[in-house]
Amino acid sequence: MVSNVAVIGAGEMGHGIAELAALRGFKVALRDIKQEYVDRGMERIRWSLGKLVEKKEITQAKADEALARIAPTVDLGKAVRDADLVIEAVFEDLDLKKKVFAELDADAPSDAILASNTSGLSITAMGRATKRPHKVVGMHFFNPVVMMSLIEIVRGEDTGDDTVRAMEEFSRQLGKTAIVCRKDVPGFITTRTIANYMYEAAWIHDEEGVPTEVLDSAMKFQVGFPMGPFELADRVGIDLLYNAPKKQGLPVPACIEALATVGKHGQKTGEGFYDYRGGRPTIAPEPGKDFDVLRILAPVINEAARLVEWGVASPEEIDLAMRLGTAFPKGPLRLADEYGVDRVLAALEGSKRHKPVELLRTKVASGELGVASGQGFYSYVKEAEAMAYETIAVAKDPEAMVATLTLNRPDRLNTINPEMVEEIDRALAEFEADETVRCLVVTGAGEKSFSAGADVTSFGDVSKSYKVWSYSRRTQQTFRRLADFPRPTLAAINGYAFGGGCELALACDFRVAAKRAKIGLTELSLGLVPGAGGMVRAVKLLGLARAKQIVLLASRFSADEARAIGLVNEVYENEEFPQRAKEYAAKLAKSAPIAYRLAKTVLNRAADASTDAGLEAESLAFGHTTSTEDVFEGIQALMEKREPKFKGQ
Ligand code: NAD
Repeated sequence: MVSNVAVIGAGEMGHGIAELAALRGFKVALRDIKQEYVDRGMERIRWSLGKLVEKKEITQAKADEALARIAPTVDLGKAVRDADLVIEAVFEDLDLKKKVFAELDADAPSDAILASNTSGLSITAMGRATKRPHKVVGMHFFNPVVMMSLIEIVRGEDTGDDTVRAMEEFSRQLGKTAIVCRKDVPGFITTRTIANYMYEAAWIHDEEGVPTEVLDSAMKFQVGFPMGPFELADRVGIDLLYNAPKKQGLPVPACIEALATVGKHGQKTGEGFYDYRGGRPTIAPEPGKDFDVLRILAPVINEAARLVEWGVASPEEIDLAMRLGTAFPKGPLRLADEYGVDRVLAALEGSKRHKPVELLRTKVASGELGVASGQGFYSYVKEAEAMAYETIAVAKDPEAMVATLTLNRPDRLNTINPEMVEEIDRALAEFEADETVRCLVVTGAGEKSFSAGADVTSFGDVSKSYKVWSYSRRTQQTFRRLADFPRPTLAAINGYAFGGGCELALACDFRVAAKRAKIGLTELSLGLVPGAGGMVRAVKLLGLARAKQIVLLASRFSADEARAIGLVNEVYENEEFPQRAKEYAAKLAKSAPIAYRLAKTVLNRAADASTDAGLEAESLAFGHTTSTEDVFEGIQALMEKREPKFKGQ
């Protein structure tokens, strides 16, 4: 059991790791070599905690407590004296790390675990610089540590099972998803695989003169990467991409070398492949639409397949790590199945730099071509029954009679794409037919986002506006289906609900929000307008004046502000939110089904109808309810002073 953590190095990663551990209740010692470095690390922690308070993700008291748990120091002995776990985050230099590990071994308690946050250096080598190699392990966090949900746990050749297990438990306590990289391969899963994305694009750019904007555009708009390979290279750091292969005596693409040698290291220096002084580069969908994206994807997939072949991790683990750690759309092996393993293999066979791994050949030889053949890295036969959805998750609590539809693209802030719209529609059809579902909750996976809106990369070629129009109509139909769902619906807004996410929430009968949530119809800030029923619903729900305030100002309301203008019904503290939302849903599920359905229909239609037609519908509904068993149960329960048990009959 870990309770005291020492973090060595207070830089970009070290300060984040210390902050996260302190937020999660661990006692932390933060060590760097000079007082000014320690001070700067603490200053960054203070700033970051302040941001979390500002965004209402934590309270000021919680921030103060976290800060009080961190003891900054330059004294290594003092830092590690009581540590159960030491996490090293010094420069990416194996000789330095080996030296640090030897020192840690001498000063830390003999049973303490020593972990390295290296992005790809040998854990085995660090372990062998100590007398406790079985207690040495990789703990690869991602930047920014507090926000990114992945930890790659790396097993060195000598790492003990108990050490790996303890780190899995520690990752869970930090609220992160851990993926175990079972072999100490250079670059582990994520760094190794994503490196090919950037280098391959750089080689193509060098050899064929294909402009960076073309390649970035193709990967963003054809595949759905949040950043093209060159923008990502600028984010990762050109110096890093230059030094890593150089140190191993490997060739470096000329375009990377040219930038590295003149100090254009990317975003952090203001310039790399792009100039950042005016913000992020503008990448349009048009230039990349004819580029064959498999030329870049195939080497990436090849590397991921190699990891499977070597037994480093399973396809599911690799894809999850890539999605969470690098924002890779769907994951490389899932993409291989979708594009076709045979096409991936063919692309590699046409490449002079890459030799396809044996696993790809055997898959193709045995007809495992992916989605088209029903089997690839994943099986699509079993999936049809067991895991029917990819972008959402559905669950049922039979006792409470509550079903939950979770928007499940947490690595994409649960943004809505055409696939998700279809899956929501299918799930609604399924729940409509299921009389045991007395309340439907719609929520988002993770703590950060309900849904940050439409996935803008899914608009594809925006010059074909009729396509976007028909997508908008389709989304409206699905949200309308939700609005007309025959039983109670509740949007449990766990985080951001912007644009399409807010429109989806507006289609529910009720909305409850966590304190940290931010809500708004923000389309106008992108030069768009709401297109999934949000404008019409905002007017009907809140009146024209409020709707104008919401739509035309495109504000991002805090949960409390949203409540004040009637956009949400209740706001709960973050920690209590899941439980309180559940209680709210359980209460809704106890409503009298027939009466609820009739009342909901009349209310939904009343806004469109003349007073007379509305009144007519109301009396018809009233007359209808009086002939149900539920009404007898309701009256009976009232007389017996107990809660009614409605059966919907
Ligand atoms: P950084 O340069 O921001 O910080 C390194 C810190 O270590 C500096 O403050 C330095 O003074 C300190 N340091 C150096 N020698 C030390 C010693 N002997 N004892 C204590 N402190 C010492 O670097 P970073 O970006 O935080 O990277 C740290 C590690 O994390 C590297 O191994 C890197 O590969 C890995 N990593 C980085 C990222 C990222 O995005 N930056 C992501 C994942 C992993």
